[in-house]
Amino acid sequence: MDKNREFAERVRLCWHPAKSVSLDPNDRLFCGKCGQYVHQEQIDSAVPDYASDPRLVLREMERIGKLEAFIVTLIYTPESNPETIDYDGLIPVEYILNLTGKLRDAAIKFMKEKEGT
Ligand SMILES: [Zn+2]
Repeated sequence: MDKNREFAERVRLCWHPAKSVSLDPNDRLFCGKCGQYVHQEQIDSAVPDYASDPRLVLREMERIGKLEAFIVTLIYTPESNPETIDYDGLIPVEYILNLTGKLRDAAIKFMKEKEGT
């Protein structure tokens, strides 16, 4: 699966795939994937490119309440004591400057490991 789509799914963003959208009895478009009513122009909407803008990854992780725990995994080293690791909100710059999806892929890995999904 496309990594941007995989990330979007894991943070529960829906792009309302056409195959999931149908008309309800009142002729309103309904997305069975996320359970929302949608407008025609929202069907098959584009998934953001989380590789080219790593800030989008951070915003979504914050929205789902996992930003702090995620950042801790970025600064964690084998020498770190997980009980005392100091969260200071700083993200290693390599994740922000990289435009091939390093931060997105780290977030996917984090969610796979922490959620077992
Ligand atoms: Zn949807």
